[in-house]
Amino acid sequence: MIKADLHMHSTASDGVYAPDELMKRAVGLGFTHVALTDHDSVAGIPLARETAEKLGMTLTNGVELSCGAQKEIHVLGYGFDPDNEALRAFCEERVAQREARTAAMVQRLCELGKPIDMARVRELARGVMGRPHVARAMLEAGYVLSVSEAFDRYLKPGRPAYVPKEDVKVSEAVRLIDQAGGIAVLAHPMELKMGDTMLESLIGEWKGQGLAGVEVYHPSAQNNHASFLLHLAQRENMLVTGGSDFHGEAVRRTEIGEGLDRWRTMESDMHALLERIRITQQAR
Ligand code: AMP
Ligand code: FE
Ligand code: FE
Ligand code: ZN
Repeated sequence: MIKADLHMHSTASDGVYAPDELMKRAVGLGFTHVALTDHDSVAGIPLARETAEKLGMTLTNGVELSCGAQKEIHVLGYGFDPDNEALRAFCEERVAQREARTAAMVQRLCELGKPIDMARVRELARGVMGRPHVARAMLEAGYVLSVSEAFDRYLKPGRPAYVPKEDVKVSEAVRLIDQAGGIAVLAHPMELKMGDTMLESLIGEWKGQGLAGVEVYHPSAQNNHASFLLHLAQRENMLVTGGSDFHGEAVRRTEIGEGLDRWRTMESDMHALLERIRITQQAR
């Protein structure tokens, strides 16, 4: 029996648990197959791998690349070589950009009369800096009662402290993952909040650029959304994946595996993904 979750974050990006703690937690909950998918970082993979192997759980190398500017589009990569130079250089560049962007957001907050300490944000971040770290610093400073309140009032697009990331095209992210020997999958399509027709045509376009799969199962996809995405993926002959996007309770109140109970074809979808990764590696 396979129990899978292909989307989770560690302290290498904006998760609360270290890669080894995350693996232990997953094993404790009975998971057999997981992927660590930190934002713009592969730094957590070695420790996650060491721990997963010790515990007898199958870990697929993963990453979640942030694309788009005002509209966030996330592309998941699976099964790539984590030592790939181009992928590493890209992540490093993104980390530097994120640092500058975070400083700009902290500056905005200061102008809004809600000063927080950049040093504290950096401490909370450890790895890749992002809005959740800013939100947590705001929570600590007593400006908000929760991380989600910080997003709703200050940090989401259209709110006064929001600063967009520098634009990266989906085609660029897909090409990077491809060149590192990985499989590119569109993360949580429902979070794009666009109409069905628009989504269908974009997925078709990205598939032409090498996108190989769709994250059909995710807490953002209700039953009707998941079945829409499933039909779309099947019609386009794309891989189907699922993940909880677990970050740890302090960021979002979810658990590993959350939202995946409707993933009835988990077993065959996992086999298809692992087989595709195997074939891709063989061809290199
Ligand atoms: P960033 O990468 O800096 O743009 O931050 C995006 C991250 O913030 C996402 O990956 C989520 O982890 C988190 N996030 C986005 N919206 C919310 C929200 N409303 N509440 C809590 N966390 C959120
Ligand atoms: Fe995140
Ligand atoms: Fe995401
Ligand atoms: Zn994620």
